[in-house]
Amino acid sequence: MALTSTPASKIANSTRQQILQRADQCVMCGLCIPQCPTYRIGRQENESPRGRIALARGLASGELQPTPTLLGHLDHCLGCMSCENACPSEVDYAGLLLATRELQRDIQPLSWARRLLLGVLARRSRLNLALRLGRIPGALAILRSRIGQAFFKRAGIAALARELPPLPTPRTWPEIVSPAFQSRGRVGLFLGCVASAFDQDTHAASITLLTALGYDVIMPGAQGCCGALARHAGLTNDDSATRQAFLDTGVDTVLVSASGCFGSLRDSVFADGKVRVREIHEFIASDSELDRLRFKALPQIAALHTPCTQVNVARGQHAIAAMLARIPALRVMPLPSEPRCCGAAGSYFLEQPQIAGPLRDEKLQQTLALVPDLLLTSNIGCRIYLGNGLRQQGETLPVRHPLSLLAQQLDV
Ligand code: SF4
Ligand code: SF4
Repeated sequence: MALTSTPASKIANSTRQQILQRADQCVMCGLCIPQCPTYRIGRQENESPRGRIALARGLASGELQPTPTLLGHLDHCLGCMSCENACPSEVDYAGLLLATRELQRDIQPLSWARRLLLGVLARRSRLNLALRLGRIPGALAILRSRIGQAFFKRAGIAALARELPPLPTPRTWPEIVSPAFQSRGRVGLFLGCVASAFDQDTHAASITLLTALGYDVIMPGAQGCCGALARHAGLTNDDSATRQAFLDTGVDTVLVSASGCFGSLRDSVFADGKVRVREIHEFIASDSELDRLRFKALPQIAALHTPCTQVNVARGQHAIAAMLARIPALRVMPLPSEPRCCGAAGSYFLEQPQIAGPLRDEKLQQTLALVPDLLLTSNIGCRIYLGNGLRQQGETLPVRHPLSLLAQQLDV
């Protein structure tokens, strides 16, 4: 995937207009403000959705100067979309945010280190190479040294050394896995970039459950990233490889298990509707054959974290709860909805640790208060970030995807 910025002339002609049009939808009622995690921390108007819309409008119209303070307030947005979900005027905050980030990149290009990081994370071959390099003895010690930390701070990814999770061994998947009995149909499975390395057990679980329901699971090797990381940083990305890879297989449905990837796949990669993008829990929960599957009892407490992208974009939270309820004796305890984001937000936790940290701390306090046996979350970014936080506190609580628990308990 090539990461590029939109040329300045194009930004002048179209992006500013997009921002102004979307900002004009806002009637400044403020109903979104209590939903905003960053407002919750500092109680400042400029750290709220309404405040950011006003700043974006001023920046796009030229009425406001792009000072570091103004750009900082815009950068602090997590992109959680809790505001959009709460807005009675149906302001397209997602569209406004993406256009604003594009304009910001024209004013303030990303550091080469952030571009490099996004470029590595967004392509599986590069990420796998980085994982192999990271396993060379001494490599992680250099990254975590004082020199390494100073370098990352200067490069705008201050928390990278501290937030590196345990590095997995890369693996490849067959292009197709078929059920043991006659197939009922074919579905594509999106593997993602970061998720392809760090969510391997979730992909294995997805295959187990889908083949148990009778589906051929299609995973084209040429698929890549959904493009969310680049888009949220204000970069234009070429995601045609992912699109073409699935089109070439002829599947009409692609399933997504990471809620953070869902919106980008549905609204950008497959925006023309040639392939239907579906949230995997919702797909499985509504399958007519699901009642045929039996799950073994598990007398444990599972704390359930629902990612902001699951609630506000992918909307599969009720399907997750319904599926977990099929595991006898499992006690599922949802975390409080506030704060509405754990702070992970793609690569945000690496760039804005001063905001991400308190949000995560609150989520972890809520989790540990339940004295659970495990923590479940359905987005890979949240899984990595919450898992890191638990390890940093000396906790050994496993953090898993709901699908991996379901596949583990499947009674075959
Ligand atoms: S974004 Fe929506 S909820 Fe928020 S102030 Fe504007 S109109 Fe009101
Ligand atoms: S997307 Fe989230 S962090 Fe950003 S303004 Fe909306 S509620 Fe606040």
